[in-house]
Amino acid sequence: MTSPLASVLSIAGSDSLGGAGIQADLKTLIACGVYGMSAITSLTAQNTTGVFSTQNTSISMLDAQIRAVFDDIRPDAVKVGMIPTAPLVDVVARRLDSYAATNVVVDTVMISSSGTALIDRNAIDAVDAKLLPLATLITPNIAEAQTLLGLKPGSLGDPAAMEDAALALSSRYGTAILLKGGHSAGNANDVLADRGRTTWFTSPRIDNPNTHGTGCTLSSAIAAGLATGLTLPEAVASAKAYTTGAIAAGLDLGQGNGPMDHAW
Ligand code: PLP
Repeated sequence: MTSPLASVLSIAGSDSLGGAGIQADLKTLIACGVYGMSAITSLTAQNTTGVFSTQNTSISMLDAQIRAVFDDIRPDAVKVGMIPTAPLVDVVARRLDSYAATNVVVDTVMISSSGTALIDRNAIDAVDAKLLPLATLITPNIAEAQTLLGLKPGSLGDPAAMEDAALALSSRYGTAILLKGGHSAGNANDVLADRGRTTWFTSPRIDNPNTHGTGCTLSSAIAAGLATGLTLPEAVASAKAYTTGAIAAGLDLGQGNGPMDHAW
């Protein structure tokens, strides 16, 4: 018998290509040395070129998946990704609350890497009102932060504006915020805002267009770090190093925005 592994539950959508969503989460969790579990919110038929079809999980089925996991193997951390509709957001928020889930990392997934909306407007409002206040850490990219703050596209272009936005979101939800700059020009620098303080995490831009699933990977790796007892800054630093390595490995699959290499 070995000592028990830390465990992480991913509540997210399925990506048939295996590059983002639940599949990226489970690959990341294995690579980070924790036991991964899943509650699937939606099935997507997609590849590196686009999303072709989606079918959302029923409310009762999502609820049953979350209860089945928590009632047996209580996760040490939870990663939340794509939740396509407001009623499904309600279920997740209610269960995270009723089970008093800890180490909850919410990746505010709104649009697929290929540009398709993955959640509707009512779901964004429900995420804002019900889910984000329950999080330990929220990991928006620049476009998602602009949406949450009602800012115009292009308004978070410089480091000072990113810091202000991260601090504003942190005080609005009473959580830590990791605002990711990876989609902006220049280096892939992210700012962590927590209790009024900011910390930057920097990494050079890697010349690899295949970044499908980077947000899923980073948030899962942070959840893995928190599950094993790392502090938030330690978990962010180690997750960023893992994600950078998976991009730098240079996997080149598919005709579009390809997945990263989790076996690097
Ligand atoms: N979740 C699912 C099911 C997806 O299909 C996608 C993107 O296509 C995402 C999340 C977000 O992906 P990324 O990590 O590239 O932001």
